Amino acid sequence: MEVVLSIDIGGTSTKLARVDQDYNVLNTTAIDTTRYMDEESYFSALYTAVRTLAGSMKDGEEIVGIGIGAPGGIPIDGTILGAANLPFSERVEVVRLFENEFEWPCFLTKDSYAAALGEGVAGAAVGMSNFVLITLGTGLGCGIVVNGQVVHGHTGQAGEIGHTISVENGRECNCGRRGCLETYVSASGICRTAFELMAARKQCSLLRSVPFNQLTAKMVFDAALQQDELAQEVFLRTGHTLGDKLAELVTIVEPEAIILAGGLTNAGAFLTEPAAERMEEQLLKSLRGKTQIMLSNLKVNEAALIGAAAFAWQNLKNVSVCQS
Ligand SMILES: [Zn+2]
Repeated sequence: MEVVLSIDIGGTSTKLARVDQDYNVLNTTAIDTTRYMDEESYFSALYTAVRTLAGSMKDGEEIVGIGIGAPGGIPIDGTILGAANLPFSERVEVVRLFENEFEWPCFLTKDSYAAALGEGVAGAAVGMSNFVLITLGTGLGCGIVVNGQVVHGHTGQAGEIGHTISVENGRECNCGRRGCLETYVSASGICRTAFELMAARKQCSLLRSVPFNQLTAKMVFDAALQQDELAQEVFLRTGHTLGDKLAELVTIVEPEAIILAGGLTNAGAFLTEPAAERMEEQLLKSLRGKTQIMLSNLKVNEAALIGAAAFAWQNLKNVSVCQS
């Protein structure tokens, strides 16, 4: 049986798995990305993890390639570009490094493109040719699938809606600009909104007892569940900001579904209801009621692993893996 070694490089941990052609994740392992001070020591540990995983294969399994998803991954030239949360230099030639180290062909894509592919082959978007995957975690990632293909764009950077402007002269973003969507719709964005509301109002809230540097999006969600009105308003505002952007996205690419994934989606209807309501309000009449907002049904972190493998399979077999 042919398998692909799949790697999901993340700011906190790097996950590895063997994935077969039916997108079964056969076993997973991980290394702690934050433990390594520089690129050399990180890749050296990653190669060791790859060899260990390859050594654990069952009889009859054959590795045919490596698929990698990473923040800043550029599928067109196999490099990782400017990944601020990784211990890397500005540009890392990942595919070249792997192909010097191993005998298997290697394919690299952006983590959010991989997550979109994962949803397309094994998650909420199975059977769809046109959909958008949005990951809501520390930041906001996006993969757009049109006619069965992830849109890479001219230089492999398409889909960065997290860095489109939601509020003119708004909050400072890690990218150096102001008002980006991800400064509002992300785990840190939720906390910033909670602080802004607490500063502007005298309203009671469970969140007022939490020290400034300890507040998390999960605490805001837990407070919302306990009928804390200020916390509920945080999610309402976040959902509306997301909904406005989704309406623009639907107007541009008209997907069958928008699939939300990542830690923030644990908030469920607190986020999706105001987002869907606002999106519908803002849409052209002819586009209303055509695009569903759905939650990912894959295990957390599996979408990107499955998708990185799907990207490798797609390149090895030269086929499109989503419906088209
Ligand atoms: Zn930005």
